[in-house]
This record gives sequence, C-alpha cells and structure tokens, in this order.
Amino acid sequence: MNTTEACRDFTPYLMAAPDEVDDLAAARLAEHIGTCTACRAESAQYSRLRDSLSLAGAREAEPPADLVPAVLARATRERRHVIPMLPVPQVELARVIQDNREVIAQVAGVAIVAAGAAWALWRGVRAYRTAPARG
Ligand SMILES: [Zn+2]
Repeated sequence: MNTTEACRDFTPYLMAAPDEVDDLAAARLAEHIGTCTACRAESAQYSRLRDSLSLAGAREAEPPADLVPAVLARATRERRHVIPMLPVPQVELARVIQDNREVIAQVAGVAIVAAGAAWALWRGVRAYRTAPARG
C-alpha cells in the first residue's frame, strides 16, 4: 500500500480523540503515525485544536437556553431561505469554526451594528409618524 492510499484510510481517524476510536484502529493509527510525518503533523494539529476547544469551552458562558428553539422556530418560518445543513462531523465543524472565528466575530459585530442602526431608524420613523402634526 502506498503512502497516499494509507493516509486516505487514516484521515477520518486523525481528527478523532483517542477515546473515540477502538483499540485496533488506535493501534493501526499509532503505527501509521509513527512512520508518516504528514499524518503525524495533522494528528498533532487536531490534538491542539481539541485542547484549545476544551479550554474555550471551559471558559466561555453558556448560550441562552432558548437559543436553539428560537433559531429552529425562525428557520421553520423562513424555510426557503435556510441553507440545507450537510451532515458535517462535529469535529470538522469545530475546526471550521476555529479556523474562521475571527471572521465569524466580525460578521456578528457587523450584524449587531446593522440591527442597532435599523432599530434606531425604525424608532426615528415611528417618532416622526406619531408626532403631532406641525403648523
Ligand atoms: Zn499518512
């Protein structure tokens, strides 16, 4: 078996935590990682990612309890605008979020500013409409 073919077989296991794979798979993975620098580096990357995610998880506040029901209710109301969710493995999703957390934070910041501006505009329009007629 050439290196590329072997690497492809082990790729899904590289992102798994040690306790997420059975003993046989873990032994084969350890053997492969022992001889393959590319997979060893990738495995180390996932390991660091798991560490930083568990640190972040321990540090950050819990989301509001009604966040998921609220998002699901809104998604149901606006179903045609919802991007279909692919069955992305949690670890892969976590990696994407980790890699893009600055962009996500910026987008969230812009959305908050836009919502604030829209609210201020709405209040202005409402105040204008409800004000007694001048003259
Ligand atoms: Zn490999």
